[in-house]
Amino acid sequence: MNYIVFDLEWNQSMTREWEDARMPFEIIEIGAVKLDSKYNIIDEYQSLIKPRLYKKLQPHVKSILNYDEQELRNGRPFDMVCREFLKWCGQDYTFCSWGSMDLHYLQMNMEYYHMKPLVSPLKFYNIQQIYANLIDQEHLIVKLEKAVENLNISFDENRPYHSAVNDAYYTSLVFGKMKPKDVDDLYCFDTYNNPKKKEDEIITFHKKYLEHISHEYSDKREILDDKDFSSIMCYKCGKKANKKIKWFSNTPTSYTCVGKCWYHGYVVGKIKVKQTKNGKLFAIKTMSPSDRKGLEKVKERQNELREKRLIKRHDKIKVKQPL
Ligand SMILES: [Zn+2]
Repeated sequence: MNYIVFDLEWNQSMTREWEDARMPFEIIEIGAVKLDSKYNIIDEYQSLIKPRLYKKLQPHVKSILNYDEQELRNGRPFDMVCREFLKWCGQDYTFCSWGSMDLHYLQMNMEYYHMKPLVSPLKFYNIQQIYANLIDQEHLIVKLEKAVENLNISFDENRPYHSAVNDAYYTSLVFGKMKPKDVDDLYCFDTYNNPKKKEDEIITFHKKYLEHISHEYSDKREILDDKDFSSIMCYKCGKKANKKIKWFSNTPTSYTCVGKCWYHGYVVGKIKVKQTKNGKLFAIKTMSPSDRKGLEKVKERQNELREKRLIKRHDKIKVKQPL
């Protein structure tokens, strides 16, 4: 199995009113590096794309790129390049990218050009996330440049950043330098084509967490009401865990809970609510190991939110009182 480490450059509309909602971000370059299973670079791919929608480069995009509109005019149409790229990828490969947006925009552009969708569910490696986990900063968004520097990977002056193929090259070096243990366990699923029906739902057991990607719902209440989805279960054995803190809304788009498995101890659950392309909702639930400290932390957070809500309500009542 090969790794296809790829990166895209994209442009957007100069003004909101000229934006096409089907493709707000138009890919202008595809770059990729093919690695064998030992992280050796075996091939590279690069191609510029002649834009169809946004022919002028948005100022920020223009400022970071190493080429301009003139060069893009010599590029080839997206569908032609994308077909060539997918053929170059070969038969047995897994996509890898810095973050999850590249895969999202690749599919969005493919859909705009009525191309056949990629296989679903689509496994990939998010190298940015793997790096963040390595340095124990699960929620940190690390820039590629920073990771290259921190891992003492030498910067090649002939390969400046913000060219898709060079960014793919550095991403592949980061991947190779990390040589993550249990690499087979570190994949995640792309959700551009989220599961539509219950039977398409994705449930995966990783070594340190369990992930459940739901089908579509019309509103948020349905998510927690769906006991098949919102059950508090152990990340390891998959059995129902004893409820310690039931689901509560942590942010407008997330819920948290704590349970305890008789065999494997405390587990903390998180649900993230996401919007689908057609305005519906789906959710991603993860269950991971926790401990007493974790339980107390979640309790604290819940109390903090309760207090905030009480203060808000109190303020409202005060406003309503006649003078
Ligand atoms: Zn268990």
